[in-house]
Amino acid sequence: MATDTPPTPAPKAANFLRVIIERDLEAGTHAGRRFGGSPGDAAHHAAGAPDPAQIRTRFPPEPNGYLHVGHAKSICLNFGLARDYGGVCHLRFDDTNPEKEEQEYVDAIIEAVHWLGFDWQAGGTSHLYYASDYFDFMYRAAEALVGAGLAYVDEQSADEMRERRGGFNTPGTDSPFRSRTPAENLVRLREMRGGAMPDGAAVLRARIDMASPNINLRDPALYRIKHATHHNTGDAWCIYPMYTYAHPIEDALECITHSLCTLEFEDQRPFYDWLLENLADLGLLARPLPKQYEFGRLNLSYVITSKRKLRALVLEGIVSGWDDPRMPTLFGMRRRGYTPASIRAMADGTGASKTNIWIDYAVLDQCLRADLEGQAPRACAVLDPVRLELANWAEVFGSDAHIEPCQAPAHPQRPELGTRHFGLAREVWIERDDFAEVPPKGFFRLVPPQVQPDGRTVPGNKVRLKYGLVVECTGCEKDAAGRVTKVLARVVPDTRSGTPGADAVKVKGTITWVGVHDALPATVVLYDRLFTEPHPDAGGRDFREVLNPRSKQVVAAYVEPALAAAGREQHFQFERLGYFVTDRVEHAPGRAVFNRITTLRDSWSN
Ligand code: ATP
Ligand code: MG
Repeated sequence: MATDTPPTPAPKAANFLRVIIERDLEAGTHAGRRFGGSPGDAAHHAAGAPDPAQIRTRFPPEPNGYLHVGHAKSICLNFGLARDYGGVCHLRFDDTNPEKEEQEYVDAIIEAVHWLGFDWQAGGTSHLYYASDYFDFMYRAAEALVGAGLAYVDEQSADEMRERRGGFNTPGTDSPFRSRTPAENLVRLREMRGGAMPDGAAVLRARIDMASPNINLRDPALYRIKHATHHNTGDAWCIYPMYTYAHPIEDALECITHSLCTLEFEDQRPFYDWLLENLADLGLLARPLPKQYEFGRLNLSYVITSKRKLRALVLEGIVSGWDDPRMPTLFGMRRRGYTPASIRAMADGTGASKTNIWIDYAVLDQCLRADLEGQAPRACAVLDPVRLELANWAEVFGSDAHIEPCQAPAHPQRPELGTRHFGLAREVWIERDDFAEVPPKGFFRLVPPQVQPDGRTVPGNKVRLKYGLVVECTGCEKDAAGRVTKVLARVVPDTRSGTPGADAVKVKGTITWVGVHDALPATVVLYDRLFTEPHPDAGGRDFREVLNPRSKQVVAAYVEPALAAAGREQHFQFERLGYFVTDRVEHAPGRAVFNRITTLRDSWSN
């Protein structure tokens, strides 16, 4: 029962990106843009119509892994801003690196972004793009830069290049290849592209300023030689563009107006602008050009998001796979039961800031509760079952075999969701900890008669079996090891829920139960945080040292009979216990598997 509308449409936090976009819209910064209907160069867009999109943003994942909760932040920001300002957001696979990218990840990313509730269709066009489709243009742009004296082929070794780059306080020195003529460079570039040179023999570099205080402007590399097969272009290329060269071009070809990236790219912005200005001056790219803006990363406490570390969790068998319900991947979170609306609410609630932020995991759980409280059907379950026997059943109901029909609303505030039906019988399952032979102070559930120091006996506690009737505890049975095997009680007559007598007997406690005769056996997996520390890998700590040994507990539970009809990925609130979802992989007819998403209240704050 994944939901599509956020629980309470929170007012959009004014953040600096919204301020920039509103200012640009007012000033008409991007007005007059033309869009050729698809990505392309200056001529392509000049021949198009005025762009119907007020702004264009993009979410540009590299298809080298599964999306995680940090990516959700970027997705919600880019798609959300486009939606809010009459714009369009592109999904672009930044697949310029031939070695690490796979179709499996492309498919998984498409599915995850859709699941989160976003779409890249606009005006009958699918704005799903692959950066590798721009390789031809990127190479053409490279030749143009070489022709204009703005790029050169450098054949120094990697070590020599590093040495000549200089340091933070020392300027770099020019490469001996820097003064080659455009004609010479063009020959060399074509040799690179032609496949004659081995990997690492040369790079194409921008000719900017080896003394720039910004090291990123000291003639950054644009192309490298890599004899590798690419998942989209096969063996067509043996040179591949660097990310810093490719990304601005991708944005410009797609007429992106606001290119949002994380803070670590701030120092790259001058090169972003240098490159696009020059290519526009050369007539290759349409104006107005995209602008880059940086925002802080979202980090979630008790979670790691480094792809390398997540891969280690999978490869070392610490989790069952990329979709293990404890993984912060969108597939893991989905399987755990987090709804798209809850993830969006968390991401949107954090706005956009100029610093990296840590969000407490409890915020995500709170967003989940807020989403499901109003809509998840209720159900009863017993996770740690012990039998409760009602000794006077036949006396009250005429026969030990009698089943007393009970009912409860599927949702207390939503009658339209209908009614649940189940039977109360002589034997029911209750939670083991709803009985205490020696009660702690303030315990109002099942307690047997207690003999006082003065010899008097206080009768056992009376509690209500929810939606059923009141029972009075009379004792228990134990095995040789002293473990309670059965709780004993008697029915207090005339206390049926929903009858006039129901309130005649006051009780301090109400407990949930399921009938032994009609309960559905179910596997319930109690998931909890994977780590015991809020910043598992802080200060270089090995995250393996702070694994939560209780992050997954599998219990043999009983749930109410109506749940036999539940399909996969259905959300429920188990009364008193928390929010649960049927597992999207393991749950099947005749094999009920529920995952605990979170408890009803935060049990981690202290
Ligand atoms: P990692 O380095 O952790 O593997 P990445 O940032 O390299 O992640 P990409 O596929 O390049 O992975 O990310 C796609 C987009 O998501 C980028 O624009 C990136 O800035 C953004 N993004 C990734 N992680 C976060 C995060 N924690 N918070 C906000 N945005 C993020
Ligand atoms: Mg990246």
